[in-house]
Amino acid sequence: MSGAAGVAGASGAAGASAVAGVGGAAGAAGAGGVGRIARIVEPLDDGRFLSVFLLVGARGAVLVDTGLAATPERTIGPALAARGLGWEDLTAVVVTHADVDHAGGLGAVRRLAPQATTICGARDRALIESAELLLERRYREFRADHAIDQSRDFVAWVRANADDGTIDAVFDGDATLTVDDGTVTLARPAGAAPRDDRPPADPARGGPPRDAGAWRVSLLAVPGHTAGHLALHDAASGTAIAADAVLGAAAPGADGAPAFAPTYRFLPAYRDTIARLRGLGAERLLCSHLEPLDGAAAGAYLDESAAFATALERALLSSLADGREATLAQLIALAAPAVATWPPDANHTLAQPLLGHVEELCARGRIRRRPGLPARYALA
Ligand SMILES: [Zn+2]
Repeated sequence: MSGAAGVAGASGAAGASAVAGVGGAAGAAGAGGVGRIARIVEPLDDGRFLSVFLLVGARGAVLVDTGLAATPERTIGPALAARGLGWEDLTAVVVTHADVDHAGGLGAVRRLAPQATTICGARDRALIESAELLLERRYREFRADHAIDQSRDFVAWVRANADDGTIDAVFDGDATLTVDDGTVTLARPAGAAPRDDRPPADPARGGPPRDAGAWRVSLLAVPGHTAGHLALHDAASGTAIAADAVLGAAAPGADGAPAFAPTYRFLPAYRDTIARLRGLGAERLLCSHLEPLDGAAAGAYLDESAAFATALERALLSSLADGREATLAQLIALAAPAVATWPPDANHTLAQPLLGHVEELCARGRIRRRPGLPARYALA
C-alpha cells in the first residue's frame, strides 16, 4: 500500500493501514466461512471522503462500489495489494447506486478485473452505465420543470470523474451473494413456500456439506436515495453496508460539520428503507461518507434520518400555508430555515428531497401542482 490516497482505518486518516475488520476472527476467513469486511477510504478534493468496501473471503473477494474514475488505480489496487490480493481475486463487484462517486470507477474496474461479475439494482442500471444519463436524469432532472440546474463546474466535474462500465447482473428485489465465487441467488419470491436452503452433503464422504465454508451475504433493495440502491447485510458479523441508503440530517463535510442536505429522492421508499435497516438490528452500519456506526450509534443515525424526513415534510406543508403557491426554488428558500444545519450556499441541495416530498404529497392528494412552468405547488 502506498501513496497519499491509501487505505484508512476508523480514524479516516489517509495512508493509515487497514481497516474495519469484523467477525472477530483473525485472518481472511474465520470459522464457518465468516470473512472480513474492509473499508477503503479515499479523500475527496473538497475535504470529504468516499469509502468503498471489500469483502475478503477464503477464496475470493467482493468489491462494493468503485469510487471515481481514478479510484481503482489510485486507491483500490493498493488496498488489495496490502492484503496480498490482486484484481484477479475479485469475484464480484457491487455498485450500490447511481452516483458518480460510487459508479465512476466501473470502467477501470472492468478492465482491471474482467472476470468479476458486476452487479447493481435494476432501476439504477442505465444511470450507472452512462454518466450522461446520470447527469440528464438525476443531477440535472430539475431543469425542465423547475428551472433549477447544476453549476457548470459540477457538470464538468462529473464528466471528468466518470469512466463508464457495464453491469452483468441486476436485481429488483433481494438476493444472496456468495463471496468466494461471486454467484448470486435470488431470494424466494414473497409468499413462496419455505425451501430447504441447506447445501447438499457430500455423499461420497458422508462429511459436512460441500460448501460449508462459503461466505454468503444478503443483497437488499433499499431504494430512496436512488430508485435502485442496494445494501449488503452480513448477518454473521452483524454488519450492514448501507452506502448512501440512509443520509441522516445532513451530509458531513471534511471536519464532520454539516455540508449539505441529505439527498434522498423517493418517498415513501426512503422511509421504508430506514425501517428495513432498523429491522436488521445490525451491530455495525457502514455508510460511504461516515465513520462506521456501531451499536447505539447506528440506531441513532437511523432515527435522525427518519426525523429529518418528518421535519422537512412539515416545513414544506407550512411553507404552503395560508393559500400560498410556490415553485420548487421558492420552497427551498422557505423550508431551509426550518431544517438546514449546513451553510446557506448549500441550500440548493434540498431540491432532491423536497421534490421527493412534493411528489409523495401530490400522490397522497395533500398538495397539487398548478399548470404552467416552472411548476408551482399549493395545498390541495
Ligand atoms: Zn450517493
